[in-house]
Amino acid sequence: MISVEEAFEKILSYVEVLEPERKPILDCLGQVLAEDVYSTIDIPPLDNSAMDGYALRAEDTRGAGETSYRYLAVVGEVAAGSMPTKKVRPGTAIRIMTGAPLPEGADAVVRFEDTDEVNRKSSGGDLSQIGILCQAKKGLNVRGRGEDIAKGNLILKKGKVLRPQEIGVLASLGRSTALVIRRPIVAILATGDELIGVDQPLAPGKIHDSNNYTIAAEVSRYGGIPKILGIGRDSVQSLTEKIDEGLDADLLITSGGVSKGDYDIVKDVLAEHGEVGFWTVRMKPGKPLAFGIIKKTEGGREKKLPHLGLPGNPVSSMITFEQFARPAILKMMGKKILAKPAIRAIIEDDVVDTDGRRLFARVSVTRRGGQYRASVTGPQGSGILTSMAKANGLAVIPENSKGVKAGDMVEVQMLDWGEEQGEVETLPIVSIVGKSQSGKTVLMEQLIAEFKRRGYKVAALKHSHGGMEIDHPGKDSWRFAQAGSDAVCVSSPDKLAFIKNLNHDLNIEEIMPIVGPEFDLILAEGFRKSKIPKIEVHRKELGDDLLCSPKELSAIVTDGSLDTDRAQLPWGDIVAVTDFIEKNFVLKARTVPSTPRGKKVK
Ligand code: AMP
Ligand code: MG
Repeated sequence: MISVEEAFEKILSYVEVLEPERKPILDCLGQVLAEDVYSTIDIPPLDNSAMDGYALRAEDTRGAGETSYRYLAVVGEVAAGSMPTKKVRPGTAIRIMTGAPLPEGADAVVRFEDTDEVNRKSSGGDLSQIGILCQAKKGLNVRGRGEDIAKGNLILKKGKVLRPQEIGVLASLGRSTALVIRRPIVAILATGDELIGVDQPLAPGKIHDSNNYTIAAEVSRYGGIPKILGIGRDSVQSLTEKIDEGLDADLLITSGGVSKGDYDIVKDVLAEHGEVGFWTVRMKPGKPLAFGIIKKTEGGREKKLPHLGLPGNPVSSMITFEQFARPAILKMMGKKILAKPAIRAIIEDDVVDTDGRRLFARVSVTRRGGQYRASVTGPQGSGILTSMAKANGLAVIPENSKGVKAGDMVEVQMLDWGEEQGEVETLPIVSIVGKSQSGKTVLMEQLIAEFKRRGYKVAALKHSHGGMEIDHPGKDSWRFAQAGSDAVCVSSPDKLAFIKNLNHDLNIEEIMPIVGPEFDLILAEGFRKSKIPKIEVHRKELGDDLLCSPKELSAIVTDGSLDTDRAQLPWGDIVAVTDFIEKNFVLKARTVPSTPRGKKVK
């Protein structure tokens, strides 16, 4: 049996990014741009007004106020879409609408609300003049030429996934088409003598084919073009005929016929037509999985069609699709983020019996009190498709565990989240570790002070092995705890303390939701065993061995020099250490992922 990762790597090594195609921008949503897009124009093309009001010379409004109007002669009007025909000379103004080009001579726009226009109109006053009620600075309410996009600049980079806003940017550049990586055509074939179409009445021993529909819908959801080949019977001839109809596709996905039954002949067909990779994968559900390459000739050239043979059970086929077909489709489309978005959640049920395989439990995830919770959606048989319909996540129970207990933290793949969504959830946290007497606490103090000086909101997290001295005997909080309360929260105008009795040592994932999301940086001391990024403090005098293995470390703060490829920062140079943390944890947490759980492909 091979691992999920090995199967993933193998399958992805057989699929290639497809070639680009040029098509109308509206058809490109969700596709990857295959060209750098430069602007040939300025946007906006001219200085123009950001408000409905009066274009004027800022200089002419000097001293204007609610009680000291400045009066200007109104010499014209300009609407969006037309060009001004007059200039603004000293002492004059031109009535202007939002988006209209700024007339020559004008350098500011005063909104209608800051003029006496409404009063003038309601009292039948002279409209050839306008009273200005506020002093304008040069550039007030003026959008400068090229302010959004300057001519000649690189606006959208190759590799960008086009969202509605990028489609809009292309439109504003005057582009009606774009060059994008084309979508893969995915041929889909259900196999089984027991299957009949959805529009057929059920007969004894028969069931409706659902896999073709689930798989086609998944293909569409992830950006491919499904091509349903229909239902193949359990004979080499029937399957071969059907597969022949799908040879022009970029990927073939079959379901069923890959287990060890008498009629499980997908591998035989593969053997006849190409190379077989037939495996059992250490996962549950979804153990049997066939993968191979079907050889075909296209225009005299031999081409290879990757074939993924999913198991027939509806839940197994869906879960294996998510793990293997989805990333293959995304890779063909030129996408870089292939990992399924995942979160950490507290599981609310015991899940046992992983049988040495990675278990994907169907769960319903909710968020309560800032914490994700996952509960199993009833019976987990691999034929029970409604357990998938009730689920919005797949809890991943590691193969080397004996299962999990209610209350444990698990990784959950989110079924309905967008590709990028799991990637932005990263925490601005780093832990300072080191041998005792290495100066961790001193470094913590200096870092906290330096980050505060730079204007950040910082939380410090300390693990105290020996208990703590917060809850003094005699205090009300102590008395409440003595009376048996599980937690006491004491709040005052300037401090909050939350004291909770624990039955086990919390890990960082459990502590984070209590700390809350408001901090720019969480600096932890210790927590050596947790998976958060770590920086080790190293002192020559304590020996050259490190507490953590270098591959666990983001950097080493040292008063010597070590033979390692990790970043080394000089002990005592607090600015350098702060810079490193700021760049790698604080700013990164705001923009790009820190430790994606899955693979990124170059
Ligand atoms: P197989 O892998 O072909 O042995 O199929 C395993 C189980 O999945 C059997 O109970 C099949 O009836 C069922 N199954 C296979 N293909 C489909 C399908 N397209 N739609 C619904 N159930 C299916
Ligand atoms: Mg079958």
